[in-house]
Amino acid sequence: MGRRDELAAALARVCDRITAACAAAGRDPAQVRLLPVTKTFPACDVALLADLGLLDAAEARDSEAAAKVAEVIALRPGAAVRWHMVGRLQRNKSRSVAQWAVQVQSVDSARLVAALDRAACAAREGGQRRGALGVLVQASLDGDPARGGCPLPQLEALADRVAAASQLRLEGVMGIAPLGIAPGAAFAQLSAAAQQLRRSHPGAVELSAGMSGDFEQAIAHGSTCVRVGTALLGDRPLASR
Ligand SMILES: *Cc1c(COP(=O)(O)O)cnc(C)c1O
Repeated sequence: MGRRDELAAALARVCDRITAACAAAGRDPAQVRLLPVTKTFPACDVALLADLGLLDAAEARDSEAAAKVAEVIALRPGAAVRWHMVGRLQRNKSRSVAQWAVQVQSVDSARLVAALDRAACAAREGGQRRGALGVLVQASLDGDPARGGCPLPQLEALADRVAAASQLRLEGVMGIAPLGIAPGAAFAQLSAAAQQLRRSHPGAVELSAGMSGDFEQAIAHGSTCVRVGTALLGDRPLASR
């Protein structure tokens, strides 16, 4: 089987799972966006996904992504792929990320908010981007900030900062179910935090939750964006999981 057929078959399986999870939760599948996570996979895979109608892609590292974005443009000049950053982000990478990402889902500190706001401003002035940079605040669901994410008690204050930044647009909340905690319990917590945040920020409607192994449970708890890598693209080399 060629790679295109392989990806088409995997996509059909993932879409079936999303449809079934939505049916079980009494939700409309149109409310759940599939975001392919293409980290460690080559630009030609992103191009094939675009051919299959998937025009969003997510990356976890700036250095890998920046090169891949350029390659995909060369491979499919007409396809306007929207790139998302979902991995831990060092402030000194903000400048670069603001040039290729439409949305950063992994914003977890006030200092990163300030750096991204400045970076988005510079990218607009430099002509590398139009419009504000979309932001999801990432919640830490195990309270261990070393693993990324903002502790739940500080999430609202962080969201306030994003909303106040002139070049950023607060779009919602992202979370990763920690190892060793039942995903359902983690997503219930995340969903409650997202609802709380929406009271003061009604535009923050996105809830990015669920990966290949647990997205059914995330959909049951209101996820609007499932970030799917391995179920779509296959196994990654162990080191970069
Ligand atoms: C790699 C990654 C994913 C995708 O994980 P899979 O288990 O391969 O679906 C989702 N979210 C983030 C933040 C990731 O880094």
